[in-house]
Amino acid sequence: MNCEICGREIKGKGFKIVVEGSEMTVCPSCKQYGSERKPSIASQPGARRVVLKKKKSSTKIEFQDELIENYHLIVRREREKRGWSQEQLAKKIQEKESLIKKIENAEITPEPEVVEKLERLFNIKLREQIPEVKVEGRSKRLSPTLGDIVIVKKKKK
Ligand SMILES: [Zn+2]
Repeated sequence: MNCEICGREIKGKGFKIVVEGSEMTVCPSCKQYGSERKPSIASQPGARRVVLKKKKSSTKIEFQDELIENYHLIVRREREKRGWSQEQLAKKIQEKESLIKKIENAEITPEPEVVEKLERLFNIKLREQIPEVKVEGRSKRLSPTLGDIVIVKKKKK
């Protein structure tokens, strides 16, 4: 079985998570991208879900991963610390040498999968979580609230 986010083979059991309403099976390192599926909720395709919603919170904070400012310098530093050439580093994460060059020169923003590989290889963090406050987002589209029970039709993608 392969991870539905990064495409890597999942060793052992995958994690079932929910990303923007769709269920995915992912590897341990990608499970942070979604919320873990609650086993108590029926997951039949097209099934209606009854979600208990606390009415009071119309403001919610979401966290977004963002690359830290000097990620390219850190990549270079970590690589040089180990005495690797850009080519050697590229081989270790199965990417092209030209990509490493561009990352270290901050010419491109690396894909999340590449960032993840670098983080794992060097055992460092290249991302930080930026809190984002959302006020009264998608709840506007829902039908009027009946008491505190909202029936949400499962989103199809
Ligand atoms: Zn993955």
